[in-house]
Formats: sequence, structure tokens, C-alpha cells
Amino acid sequence: MQWETVIGLEVHAQLSTQSKIFSGASIAFGAAPNAEACAVDLALPGVLPVLNRGAVERAIRFGLAVGAKINSPSIFARKNYFYPDLPKGYQISQYELPVVEGGTVMFHVAETEKTVRLVRAHLEEDAGKSLHEDFHGMTGIDLNRAGTPLLEIVSEPDMRSSAEAVAYAKTLHSLVRWINICDGNMQEGSFRCDANVSVRPRGSGRLGTRCEIKNLNSFRFLEKAIDHEARRQIEIIEDGGTIQQQTRLYDPDRDETRAMRSKEDAQDYRYFPDPDLLPLEIPSSWISEVRDVLPELPAQMRSRLERDYGLSSYDAETLTADREIADYFVAVVSNLPSDPKLCANWVMGETSAYLNDAGKSFEHCPLSPGELAQLLTRIKDGTISGKMAKEVFRQMWSRRSEQETGWKSLQAKTDQSLVDQIIESQGLKQISDSGAVEKLIDEVIATNPKSVEEFKAGKEKAFNALVGQVMKAARGKANPAQVNEILRSKLK
Ligand code: ADP
Ligand code: MG
Repeated sequence: MQWETVIGLEVHAQLSTQSKIFSGASIAFGAAPNAEACAVDLALPGVLPVLNRGAVERAIRFGLAVGAKINSPSIFARKNYFYPDLPKGYQISQYELPVVEGGTVMFHVAETEKTVRLVRAHLEEDAGKSLHEDFHGMTGIDLNRAGTPLLEIVSEPDMRSSAEAVAYAKTLHSLVRWINICDGNMQEGSFRCDANVSVRPRGSGRLGTRCEIKNLNSFRFLEKAIDHEARRQIEIIEDGGTIQQQTRLYDPDRDETRAMRSKEDAQDYRYFPDPDLLPLEIPSSWISEVRDVLPELPAQMRSRLERDYGLSSYDAETLTADREIADYFVAVVSNLPSDPKLCANWVMGETSAYLNDAGKSFEHCPLSPGELAQLLTRIKDGTISGKMAKEVFRQMWSRRSEQETGWKSLQAKTDQSLVDQIIESQGLKQISDSGAVEKLIDEVIATNPKSVEEFKAGKEKAFNALVGQVMKAARGKANPAQVNEILRSKLK
């Protein structure tokens, strides 16, 4: 039997507001337990929620970015359940009328374009945290996270492999950061996924029973959890069993999923409209205002890079993976408009690799785009070879790497002559004086009669050996194209 995996994701994106969704307490990460929980977050008697306008604005921004419908009104509902980290005994969420409805997310998986439909995206508050360590048989409750604004983004069950699910999640992750509604920090839990997984015989039109794996906070865990869960379900069915709808947890140490609880139905939550909050009306003028300031989106920018700069779709996709690399690339090209491909290669290659090693993002790149463009200009005008340029890059990096501020604040005071200084002081300049190159070539011809003979007898390999000898004599500083040309004409 051929099996097909079916996946739908629920992504929780923590919205990057200053304060909580229904109170004025801060949402900053890392404060002492309960230092950032006010009377509303603690659910003291008599308090009332007040909706944070910034959270709604971010939800609208998201809805517009995915081409969804913005519902007005939308309704806040109480989702009732008991848990020690939920002081009110219910979570304020949205149920029947979410603020964002529909929409699509497009991305590539191994060259093929894939579209995933969204069911909805709704606003809700996060719960607190139970702390099981350090309390000697008791549980500590930290309510700092209670009331943190979340946008829950629910997809249709449109994905068919863990690779598609990961590509979808990465696209969403980059989108929410691009439009500045979520910082995307997965270690701190600002972006986390629940994966709904089922299997069915390939070709079947019916969905199998799903299990939901909760709180996956890395793309790697998402991939492994889905693969593991699909295998587990297939084994059960092939052994003649049936799948129980369940909520499961992924244990990365053992690479397995474990049952957490049997899945509750919506009716278990006794949803009803929250009488403390009015229906949320969003005037169309507000939607227009948000649309007017929406930045160019990654997909649009990708096609612009392909169209205006002639970049391949692979390059364009890599350069729009996040806004920081995109901004940096655009700034480099603006200094060297004649060669976008060379700029792309050095941004995605050397610069990206050095930043990676240093654990920095493009925002904190210590080299200004002007300096990098200057280096590339020196390759283009033949002053240095591409190989030498890597050495110059290394030295530029070590001079600049102590800079703590990123390139945006640095740009004004960067010294454009740094590249030339390094080339000059290290003697890395290419020998472009053709007389000097000719002299080296004559010496090599004189001392390598055997290779010369072989070349004349038709062996192309011998020619390459001679070029190698010349480059060696020039200590790598000759221009290979020039050496080729002169050598060939001399051997005619
Ligand atoms: P719940 O809150 O009960 O998890 P939601 O409607 O919020 O329900 O989320 C359901 C998620 O599960 C959606 O992402 C949906 O695409 C996905 N899903 C539904 N049925 C299946 C199925 N049979 N296999 C895989 N995913 C499914
Ligand atoms: Mg769910």
C-alpha cells in the first residue's frame, strides 16, 4: 500500500506590541517571574480587558499580506478550560468570526511552486507558564506570558510532506518578520507550530484521523516530528489498528511523539462570545491606511529582482529570504548597478558565510555596502583577481568586525579607501602591465620545453600546465585571462 501524509499547521506568532493584548503590562521577555503580570493578567475580581489597537493593526497587516478577507465585525470568544497557568479559567480567543479569513501562502519546494490556503488567522491571548523545576514537589506559576498577544494562523490540510510543511512554516516565518508583526524568535517561543498529521492511502479523497503535535519550536523538530508521526500512524494501520485522535508531544531527545491527552472537541471548550468585549469593528478607512504603508512583499520583490536585475529565481529567492539580506543586497547593487550578479554572489557567498560564522544577521553586517561594492569594482577593473578579493575581504572583515553597530548606522563614516589601502599595503595588486606578464611567460616557455612540445603536438592539458607555471611565478597576481591570451599567441 502507498501512503500519503496530510498536514495542516497552526502557527502561533507572538505579535511585537509593547504591551499585552488586553492589559497595559509589558510583554518583554526574561523578566523575573510574575513581575510583568498586572491585575488583568492575574484575573483579579472586577477587572476588565481593553483591546490593544496595535495587535489589531498587526493582524490587519498580516491579512492584507496574504490576500485574506478582513472581517468586520469579528468577535472575541471565551475558550473555557482549566489549567493552573490560566487564571481566568478561560482564554480570550476568536471562534466563529476571526479577524482574518482565507488567504494563501505561496512558496517553492525543490523548484516547484506550491500554494497553501489559509483557513483563518485570529487574535488571542497567550497563557502563563508552569515551572516544574526548583519547587520540590510543587509547581511554580509564572504569569508574565499570560495576555501576550498571539496571531494564530491556521492552514488548510494542504501539505503532503514534512518538506512542504517546513517550507510553508519558513515562508510564514519570513513573512511575519518582513511585515514587522513578530520578531520570529523561536527559542523564546515567539513563533511556534502545532502540526496536524494524518495518513491515507494515496489517491484517496477522504482525510484520515489526525493527531496534533503541539508546540514545535524549531524547523528541524517540525520536520522530524511529522516524519516520525506519519511512520507511527502507518505502522498502526498496517498492523490492523485504528488511529485515535490525540494531542501529542514531540520529544527531541528520543525522536518520538508521545500521547499528551485525547483530543478535545470544540464543544468541550464551551465557546461563547466574551460579554466584556464589544464586537471588533474595523472601518475600511483603517484597512486602507494599513495597506498604504505595507512594504513591498517578498514575492513581489523576488519577481522585481528577477526582472530588473536579471537574477535567477534561486538567487532572487535566497536574497528575499528575509528583509535584512534583501536591504543589504539592494544597497550593494545601488553602488554597483552594472553587475547585480557579482553583487548577489558576494552577498550570498562570502558575506553570508562570514556573518554565519560570527553568529550575526545581515542587519549587523560590519561592512558597509559601499565598501563591498568597492571591492567588487576592483575585481571588475582588473586590479585584483577574484581569488585575491577573498583575501582582501578577509582583511576588511577583521578590521571592521569589532564594530557593534550594523551597516546602516555605519554607512556615513565608512572609509571608501579601505579596499585600496589593503590592496596596496599587502601587495595584492594584480600584475596588469603586459610587459611584466610577457617577461614571466618567456621565462616559463624557456624552462618548460617538454610542456611546450606536448602542447604543439595537440595536448591541451600541457597548455593549462604552462598557465599554472606562469601564475605560480607571478605568485597568483597575474590576470589568468591575460596570461592565457599572451601565452596562446606566443605558442602559435
Ligand atoms: P483544533 O483547534 O481542533 O486543532 P483547528 O480548526 O484550529 O482545530 O485546526 C485544525 C487544523 O488541523 C487545521 O490546520 C487543519 O488544516 C488541520 N487538519 C484538519 N483535519 C486534518 C486531517 N485529517 N489531517 C491533517 N490535518 C488536518
Ligand atoms: Mg489545534
